[in-house]
Amino acid sequence: MVRPMEDMHAHQSFEPADADLDLELRLMWRRSKQEDRNWVDCGGMLRRAGLRPTRQRIVLGRLLFSKGHRHITAGILHEETQKARVPMSLATVYNTLNHFTEAGLLRRIGIDGATAFYDTNPSQHHHFYIEDENMLCDIPADSVVIDRLPEIPEGFEVSGIDVVVRLRRRL
Ligand SMILES: [Zn+2]
Repeated sequence: MVRPMEDMHAHQSFEPADADLDLELRLMWRRSKQEDRNWVDCGGMLRRAGLRPTRQRIVLGRLLFSKGHRHITAGILHEETQKARVPMSLATVYNTLNHFTEAGLLRRIGIDGATAFYDTNPSQHHHFYIEDENMLCDIPADSVVIDRLPEIPEGFEVSGIDVVVRLRRRL
């Protein structure tokens, strides 16, 4: 069964049977002219990560994870929901990105107070940040060697070290 968009917004917490939801989202995806081979089993991925597969999570999961490894900001993802004709608020996009990050599906890379990227490859690695283009590129984990760390305060342990090497084009 395909529900009209208005109905979807009226039932944001409504969870139809998976088969229904899957068909509906597949049609939505085709309408957005994405190729069907990019289809990923988002419902399964969310459940395995311990997240309830709500409609918004599946839509955003599909936009995020159907294009290989990406570094994306909440603003760009929000634009993609509009282009794919599945509009939702920027706040919903932020909340969902945070839930995905807490569940280990994404890694958040903070650049400064105003800018953060979400990385669809949550494994340990580092990044170049190209300032002029507001773009992140991967640096393999083993190509950065950190041979000295400050003393860790009593009662704490290091949970991760993220290196961002900032680049700008030479004049
Ligand atoms: Zn990355």
